[in-house]
Amino acid sequence: MLTYISNAGVMLSLNGKKILIDPLTTPDNQIYVDTEPGIRGALLQNAAPYNDVDVVLVSHHHRDHFHAESMLQLLKAQPGSQLVSTPEVVRRVLEAAEGEAAGGDWAGLNMNAGTPLSLDRLRVVDLATGEAAALEISGVKLQVFRTLHDGEDYAEVPNLMFVIECGMVVAHLGDSAPVPQNFAGAAFADAIARQPIDLLIANFPYIAIPAARKLVAEMLKPAALAVVHFPDPYKEAARWATVAKKSFARVQENYLPAVLLETLGECVALPLEEGI
Ligand SMILES: [Zn+2]
Repeated sequence: MLTYISNAGVMLSLNGKKILIDPLTTPDNQIYVDTEPGIRGALLQNAAPYNDVDVVLVSHHHRDHFHAESMLQLLKAQPGSQLVSTPEVVRRVLEAAEGEAAGGDWAGLNMNAGTPLSLDRLRVVDLATGEAAALEISGVKLQVFRTLHDGEDYAEVPNLMFVIECGMVVAHLGDSAPVPQNFAGAAFADAIARQPIDLLIANFPYIAIPAARKLVAEMLKPAALAVVHFPDPYKEAARWATVAKKSFARVQENYLPAVLLETLGECVALPLEEGI
């Protein structure tokens, strides 16, 4: 089961595990939708069905993917959860914790005292662009790739692409730029040759830009596609929204079972069936 919860954020329920990806935005985004308030509340209070999450993945620290204070609250409310992210995301969560602890020293961090947050629940993935790492957390196998973030102005922003193996293989690109070098590394090629992607969760440019559609078809080769990070047509001048919707219809008709995730809270059964 796939539940759409925020801009690029989903909850995956696979093989009895709950996995969140980019679940909590910093409120008041300009063009992109925030985490649905009721879902944010449930995540931060460990309330069903958003309770007892096993793994929380955050692709990068941008506000439309991450909010440090909310993430800290989630980790405290859900003591079984583990966060996997970049050094910058983890640093900001620790900084939020430090703020709460009124001047506690997070560098020497003794977060076990009085709080369910301990350092071993924060998994820092510190990679150079193009590098990859493999992890296994709570029975969920992860391959993590640092990719180039989309947009020239953001080339230095560390961004992680996750390939999750838990009954099926799901890939989430974060804000990976739709350029061949992001998917051309030997580790990525090996990973998808060994276990092809059952579901790719990708930002709307991956369907709106012809060269990006080609990357999906020729390099990522998923069995199905879920499109996220769709601009809010009410906040945006509607150009991207219109282009992306037209391409979506074409993708769905021509080559892949696909779903456009727009309605927060919407649930989709996995695997996606042909002709959804
Ligand atoms: Zn970003």
